[in-house]
Amino acid sequence: MPTIIDGKKISAEIRQEVKTEVSEIKARGMEPHLAVIIVGSDPGSQVYVRNKHKACEEAGIRSTVIEMPETTTQEQLLAQVEKLNQDKTVHGILVQSPVPKGLSEEKAFESIHPLKDVDCFHPQNVGLLMLGRPRFLPATPAGVIELLVRYNIKISGQYVVIVGRSNIVGKPLAGMLAQKSERGNATVTVCHTGTKGLAYYTKQADIVIAAAGRPGLITGDMLNSNCTVIDVGTNRIPDATKKSGYSLVGDVDFESASKVAANISPVPGGVGLMTIAMLLKNCVMATKLQS
Ligand code: NAD
Repeated sequence: MPTIIDGKKISAEIRQEVKTEVSEIKARGMEPHLAVIIVGSDPGSQVYVRNKHKACEEAGIRSTVIEMPETTTQEQLLAQVEKLNQDKTVHGILVQSPVPKGLSEEKAFESIHPLKDVDCFHPQNVGLLMLGRPRFLPATPAGVIELLVRYNIKISGQYVVIVGRSNIVGKPLAGMLAQKSERGNATVTVCHTGTKGLAYYTKQADIVIAAAGRPGLITGDMLNSNCTVIDVGTNRIPDATKKSGYSLVGDVDFESASKVAANISPVPGGVGLMTIAMLLKNCVMATKLQS
């Protein structure tokens, strides 16, 4: 049996660490404050925003959720961001993705003040990250690395295959892992929809990170027996046995992969919980940067 990488346990540890740090910051007269803008009524986004709000409150971070209607214009969204940029009591701002069709997410992310950009989506912060001088760490990639580190899984010198090249997961993660740093120094391949023969790469990998949004894409026969598998995928599939009507599954076929891998993270209970914990860390960082 492989070691199951327990995101629930590790994220709880981090949240406790953040809580302690928040108390210390508050004792110095500051109150970390995150403002989240949600536009429209995407049910998935509403769940994410609710979870972030709850996690902030539990950590002692003030959380404000700003709900804007589906009909919001780009100008109204940018004006709302600007209002929060100017608000000295707000340290972190995020615009929940996706925004409704017709609005530019990119423009919204770029309008957030770089010191308040706790998602680390602003080009300035992405640039600093790529240069090895991070201001913030993007939450999901940072969560993946944190899991590896806290499970003492070697990164330096290892061959890592990332499946997915998105701006929020695959690309920044590749940059972070390839960086000459304590938590990097890996040899990284990024696979994507243009990759021919995905299994050729995954089979050689010491660490496979799946972030493709394709349920069951990575199967046991695509892995080698000493590998670590981190599943970032969060896919809703219809499930009549569930009250919600759906089940959450990853990009990895857990049943076959867990028979081969040495370490594996499950979905749910893996990376998803880490993302929120790392976001809280960024809120603390943003507060310190603005104090
Ligand atoms: P995306 O949906 O923007 O892009 C998917 C990427 O996967 C693309 O780069 C594409 O080239 C690649 N891809 C798709 N099919 C492929 C295939 N068959 N073979 C090889 N590559 C393929 O990616 P995203 O926003 O990073 O999301 C990826 C998954 O991770 C989704 O399931 C998403 O829900 C999940 N996610 C989870 C968290 C979390 O906190 N756990 C955070 C972000 C994203």
